[in-house]
Amino acid sequence: MTQTSIAIMGGGPAGLMAAEFLSAAGHAVDVYDQMPTVGRKFLLAGKSGLNITHSEPFAQFAQRFGVSSGRLQSAIEAFGPDDVRAWADGLGTETFVGSSGRVFPTAMKASPLLRAWLKRLEAQGVQIHTRHRWLGFGPDGHRLQTPDGEISIAPDAALLAFGGASWPRLGSDGRWTEGLSDTGVAISPFKPGNCGFDVAWSETFRERFAGEPVKSVAVTSAAGHSQGEFVVSQHGVEGSLVYAHSAVLRDALITQGQADLVLDLAPGRNATRLARDFSRQDAKASFANRLRKGAGLEGVKAALLREVQPDANRLEPEDLASLIKALPIPLLRPRPIEEAISSAGGVEWGSVTEDYMLKSVPGLFVAGEMVDWEAPTGGYLLTACMATGLAAAKGIDRWLTGN
Ligand SMILES: Cc1cc2nc3c(=O)[nH]c(=O)nc-3n(C[C@H](O)[C@H](O)[C@H](O)COP(=O)(O)OP(=O)(O)OC[C@H]3O[C@@H](n4cnc5c(N)ncnc54)[C@H](O)[C@@H]3O)c2cc1C
Repeated sequence: MTQTSIAIMGGGPAGLMAAEFLSAAGHAVDVYDQMPTVGRKFLLAGKSGLNITHSEPFAQFAQRFGVSSGRLQSAIEAFGPDDVRAWADGLGTETFVGSSGRVFPTAMKASPLLRAWLKRLEAQGVQIHTRHRWLGFGPDGHRLQTPDGEISIAPDAALLAFGGASWPRLGSDGRWTEGLSDTGVAISPFKPGNCGFDVAWSETFRERFAGEPVKSVAVTSAAGHSQGEFVVSQHGVEGSLVYAHSAVLRDALITQGQADLVLDLAPGRNATRLARDFSRQDAKASFANRLRKGAGLEGVKAALLREVQPDANRLEPEDLASLIKALPIPLLRPRPIEEAISSAGGVEWGSVTEDYMLKSVPGLFVAGEMVDWEAPTGGYLLTACMATGLAAAKGIDRWLTGN
């Protein structure tokens, strides 16, 4: 077979997975990345243990991508959670299922896996060019800014895998949209995904509780009901329980200008029991004692109740119970995209074929977080980035070989 040249722009998990498949299929593959090293966001994800995929039943897993679940289904069927684990294992990284069902490398970090991955790519002949920034198109093909000045390359096919727009200092800065501006590709504006929110905490509450975790509480939103923990921050609220609801809360803030984080401070007790316990209390007992004895609330949880409803101590038992079961914390705005775990927005599905090729630019493919889908934390992001990288790579192979 005549070797065809393929350029992969962006060396994150999506681009590297595509490079792995295409080089194994016998193509000459060059990876270009603007940073001095590849996989920086992958490595950062490793700092919190590298939640690489999730062990829940596949049907449930495949629905975690909201309105994009249908479009992502075939990619995830071809490279799902079990494949992610087998792939990591093949690179010498054993994984385990945590108590939440999330899957992590036993080593709880990303660096050994990335090192082994890059070694495999090198052995398969993949050339990695760092400090090469994709600028867009010129008369001679793709324009790249390099340490030695601008160059142009004209590969037989190319994949763009530039990531989203969160944590821009790791390389995925979202500026690639400029390079696609004259191509007819539809791009939705970026929005923070898996993000925290600003809350107008009182000075006293902020000083006393910023940094404090709020454990074993539940949140209900249009995204469903989930139990877990979050953190009170200087600015508002952060953490896994907030992230799980952040997409619907963000969209409510955008469309309705208003959204509350609705908290159940006592998930183990129902409202009837709480009201009954409060009504039996000594009327002279302090409010702090009533909350502690009647609902098990103290510290930051009791303070949250008073922060939201300063006269909560005057409420009737039923109303106090209802407030504890559904405490609305008014959110002001999402935290900036620079701080978010991921981003929504990017290349719209309508511009992408089933093979991940841009409809208006034949021979140019896209994959990973730069496509307009989002998912909660839980390993869904990395799985879908690698799955779409692989799907696009297969699309490139079909495009080049006609098979
Ligand atoms: C703090 C943090 C923790 C996370 N933890 C997890 C987790 O535990 N589990 C999980 O599933 N997900 C996690 N994620 C999300 C996950 O890391 C990303 O979804 C994933 O890395 C996206 O992969 P990608 O290949 O699409 O893009 P990226 O990994 O963002 O890679 C894109 C690459 O493209 C390069 N690039 C961008 N623009 C250009 C250009 N113009 N020219 C050349 N190169 C360019 C960048 O330098 C970068 O190397 C986490 C993210 C963050 C920020």
